[in-house]
Amino acid sequence: MCIFCDIIDHKIPSSIVYEDDDVLAILDISQVTYGHTLVMPKKHVSSALEADPSTVAKVFTCAAQLGAKIKKNTGAAGVNLLANCGEAAGQSVDHMHCHIIPRFNESDAIRIEFHPEGEKDLNEVLQTVTA
Ligand code: 5GP
Ligand code: ZN
Repeated sequence: MCIFCDIIDHKIPSSIVYEDDDVLAILDISQVTYGHTLVMPKKHVSSALEADPSTVAKVFTCAAQLGAKIKKNTGAAGVNLLANCGEAAGQSVDHMHCHIIPRFNESDAIRIEFHPEGEKDLNEVLQTVTA
């Protein structure tokens, strides 16, 4: 059972922002910020890491285009496009999706902060990530 598949099949109601043959965009029920939207492929796949390239392209192209539209329509100052891939990365629904999170100011309800772990040997890191 997948809650997003049920939404795609209209078994569970949602606020549809955009729909075509391949993707569905809906308002996130939690609205972290005003206009918070989720873009997902209609075909079930766990995350962007398992999806085929055309699915990734469709979802992220849609997210970018809708992100621009939502930014304009909400008067947001910026937008985070965010895909949590895996539980450790904060993914709670096991159906690929990209968050569109309009950003209004530094005190809105989302914090994305980078706290570097410390100096790393970039040559060693490069060997690992490109192996
Ligand atoms: P994740 O944590 O997997 O990146 O994000 C899942 C998102 O799905 C959450 O922001 C959560 O609010 C949203 N969500 C979970 N269940 C529902 C639902 O039934 N309807 C809608 N519209 N959003 C949902
Ligand atoms: Zn699903």
